[in-house]
Amino acid sequence: MGTTLPGADELAALARETAKRCGAEVGGEVTTTSPINGLPLAAVDWVDAAAVDEAVARAREAFLAWRTVPAPARGALVKRLGELLTEHKADLATLISLEVGKITSEALGEVQEMIDICDFAVGLSRQLYGRTISSERPGHRLMETWHPLGVVGVISAFNFPAAVWSWNAAIALVCGDPVVWKPSELAPLTALACAALLDRAVAEQGAPAYLSQVLIGGPEVGEALVDHPGIALVSATGSTRMGRAVGPRVAARFGRSLLELGGNNAAVVCPSADLDLATRGIVFSAAGTAGQRCTTMRRVIAHIDVADALVERIAAAYRRLPIGNPTTPGTLVGPLINERAHTAMRDALAAALEQGGTLIAGGGRRLADQAPNAFYAEPALMRMGEQTPIVTQETFAPILYVLPYETLEEAIALNNAVPQGLSSSIFTRDQAEAELFLSAEGSDCGIVNVNIGTSGAEIGGAFGGEKETGGGRESGSDAWRGYMRRATNTINYSGALPLAQGVEFTI
Ligand code: NAD
Repeated sequence: MGTTLPGADELAALARETAKRCGAEVGGEVTTTSPINGLPLAAVDWVDAAAVDEAVARAREAFLAWRTVPAPARGALVKRLGELLTEHKADLATLISLEVGKITSEALGEVQEMIDICDFAVGLSRQLYGRTISSERPGHRLMETWHPLGVVGVISAFNFPAAVWSWNAAIALVCGDPVVWKPSELAPLTALACAALLDRAVAEQGAPAYLSQVLIGGPEVGEALVDHPGIALVSATGSTRMGRAVGPRVAARFGRSLLELGGNNAAVVCPSADLDLATRGIVFSAAGTAGQRCTTMRRVIAHIDVADALVERIAAAYRRLPIGNPTTPGTLVGPLINERAHTAMRDALAAALEQGGTLIAGGGRRLADQAPNAFYAEPALMRMGEQTPIVTQETFAPILYVLPYETLEEAIALNNAVPQGLSSSIFTRDQAEAELFLSAEGSDCGIVNVNIGTSGAEIGGAFGGEKETGGGRESGSDAWRGYMRRATNTINYSGALPLAQGVEFTI
């Protein structure tokens, strides 16, 4: 299954036709590659950093108009975007598979997430609530008002080439903010298609032009956005290396940043866990998306009484995983994004072996004979005696390290003893154990789950993590506040002028 990889012409034609159906014309000077066959997929034009000035000026114009449109009317634009995404769900999923190698079901899931966030944002457009607060002074009222913030710059990673933009764009647009998007240079067609659909919604709704712009280019375009004083919020998703560069630069100009960076996510498996359920949850989180989600499970912290049985089950599942063409029905593991990712995986496996690990399953390369420039990796299962330096790093590939523990406190300490703080989970049927893991003494991550894996979040919750994951929160809950500015208002209807804190100042 999934062993015949399509040729370059077939995929290039599919990419061109699919993008066109979404309204995006493909053509230009920079060639992109499909990870499915490792061959050229399309050519697009890149802009350089100088284009950022112009884009921000146009977005600023759009902002001045858009901020005066009532939020529920702004919601109508996002509603239309959601309809267009629904209409082109299969097209966008195809582009995602072609550009980043996601299996069809996960690519469709990514587009569904975009539709879901549009729904959420439409509802939100009537719920941008401020509070009314009791004043300490008679005849006074305190309240807070939320206003549009300004132009939002979105920098996104290759592995969610469409959804991350929509989490930001849908919320930003109802909050009254235009978006300038610098997508991953590895997935420009998906970005052009998304942008074309939003452009269509903008035109149909009579919304201001340039509410949405996309700048295809390399990291230098991202850097220009980061440094631009006209960008009120930089929402950057990618590696911790990128965030380490972006965060201080935005802070230096007192801009606002929302950082969604790397993860190193673990599951604790307790003696009372349902091991079949745990195995299913772990294998989806660890091997799904070929280990290329920020929430991919990279560590299992297993109680010594169940570790052997659990490893056996995971290994059995790993040996059965269908690996290959991600668009072939039944495939569960597609390719790595490129050779660099494969080299990083190989190096990490070598380091883990050197640091005392034992390879239990996987780790090999597949389909190299058919497609020497495509990198299909068998998800690797590695037992480690302890949490060595390689285990504390995020290697963006399917490697799952299994570590032993004896007490839950020890397991929690291991979970937390990495620089990243994105997602975590515990498999247990003991409520006290689950509650401890969820408590202030438990996992230090932004996402803490019970009896499900670390990946596959819904849009209703706030998404993001602590420590080197960057501290940002996107998507649901009250993440919208990051896209607005808050004004606190004191209104005096008393006719007198009492001062706060009893201060006397009589003139
Ligand atoms: P990357 O850091 O290489 O690139 C991400 C984006 O940042 C790209 O658009 C790139 O052009 C841009 N960029 C790179 N350097 C920059 C700089 N100095 N200034 C401005 N922009 C710059 O990441 P990637 O390989 O595309 O994605 C994988 C990484 O993203 C993993 O670490 C993964 O965990 C992380 N990720 C995090 C989340 C999250 O929500 N926390 C979601 C998806 C991916």
